Amino acid sequence: MPIREVDCVIIGGGAAGLMCAAAAGQRGRSVVVLDHANKVGKKILMSGGGRCNFTNLFATPANYLSGNPHFCKSALSRYTQHDFIALVEKHGVPYHEKTLGQLFCDRKSRDILDLLLAECADVGAEVWTDCAVQRIRRHDAGFDLHTALGDYRCPSLVIATGGLSIPRMGATGFGYQVAKQFGLKLTPREAALVPFTLKGRLLSLAQGLAGVALPVIAECRGQRFPEALLFTHKGLSGPAILQVSNYWHPGDPVQIDFLPGQDLAALISEWRADGSRAELSTRLSRLMPKGFVQAWLSHHGLESALAGKHLADLSQADVSRLCDAFQRWTCVPDGTEGYATAEVTRGGVDTAEVSSKTFEARSVPGLYFIGEVLDVTGWLGGYNFQWAWASGWCAGQYV
Ligand SMILES: Cc1cc2nc3c(=O)[nH]c(=O)nc-3n(C[C@H](O)[C@H](O)[C@H](O)COP(=O)(O)OP(=O)(O)OC[C@H]3O[C@@H](n4cnc5c(N)ncnc54)[C@H](O)[C@@H]3O)c2cc1C
Repeated sequence: MPIREVDCVIIGGGAAGLMCAAAAGQRGRSVVVLDHANKVGKKILMSGGGRCNFTNLFATPANYLSGNPHFCKSALSRYTQHDFIALVEKHGVPYHEKTLGQLFCDRKSRDILDLLLAECADVGAEVWTDCAVQRIRRHDAGFDLHTALGDYRCPSLVIATGGLSIPRMGATGFGYQVAKQFGLKLTPREAALVPFTLKGRLLSLAQGLAGVALPVIAECRGQRFPEALLFTHKGLSGPAILQVSNYWHPGDPVQIDFLPGQDLAALISEWRADGSRAELSTRLSRLMPKGFVQAWLSHHGLESALAGKHLADLSQADVSRLCDAFQRWTCVPDGTEGYATAEVTRGGVDTAEVSSKTFEARSVPGLYFIGEVLDVTGWLGGYNFQWAWASGWCAGQYV
């Protein structure tokens, strides 16, 4: 088969790759997207519980982690959440804000994938599936690709193969291998936006409460997230936990406040002052689920220590133990559930290797990296897609 020459080949037909294809096509570039999976955009389809949390009204560079926190600034300011919202509105996709600026489709995630594919089709960008790329070779005029669907030659090659999370959905380390092939540095990669696993007594505690969800403030390495926590059969999950998992490293403690916005010591003083004879656990159960309160008191040995005591009889030490248990609970997770359930990969292609303006590798002209394959990780809440749109669109202006 003769080699096909195009302006730009994009490997990976996910959020970033499709956005880049549409943007490059709008500039009149001939573009081919190659994906090894049997469908493109699988993570878009499964995202946001099937309703794709496609961006966040309040996205700023502060919502991203990276070895270089400044790297994401340029792209996020050139292609903002409002630009993507305008695109969503242009296609008549109905959406709503769920909470904390998180925008979701009213119907299905499919609306977002269809929108991207329509944008690609409009500009003649080709999108091919079931296409493994077997070899990449660089030469003076660009790159030669040997693929399952034939050979391509292009001056611009974009790597948009995402991270390692959910391998059964087609995630591979391909982008990292390409970076290594061309001598680019990688930062260590870890599963992130991922539930924690516990062991021993803590695991039994979580298992006994599996399914119980409650609002908390979770904190790790100075980052605090007021959202919900969910006990699971393996440990801890829920948005607050996924958020802190972005910052967590093995051995780090995680602190949880189960009474966000309240001051338990002050509440106990008030309860004492009003002279009520209600027991402490009854009072606490008005603030948190009863099963949780009982399990928590018992786990901390407080049930027996405080048995039979009226509120008035609690010592300062008792109050302090209660506050530690409910407002400053600290645990060291055993680990995470790993890439099988993680929403993203923290780390990736070192941003020092890539221009924050064009996304072209500094040492390899014509080679671009966009989206999650880079060492840029967003919070939970639409931030990761916003990064994919912004980096994809910006690279699309230069390929
Ligand atoms: C369950 C789940 C829910 C999520 N929900 C949200 C959400 O609601 N909001 C949000 O902002 N983020 C969410 N995310 C994160 C978001 O999906 C990713 O950050 C985003 O998709 C990254 O875009 P990308 O284009 O870089 O990579 P991807 O979208 O992962 O696309 C990579 C593409 O490359 C292809 N590919 C991989 N290897 C190869 C190879 N060797 N050859 C050819 N093609 C290859 C893959 O098949 C895939 O199509 C979620 C993630 C998961 C796992």
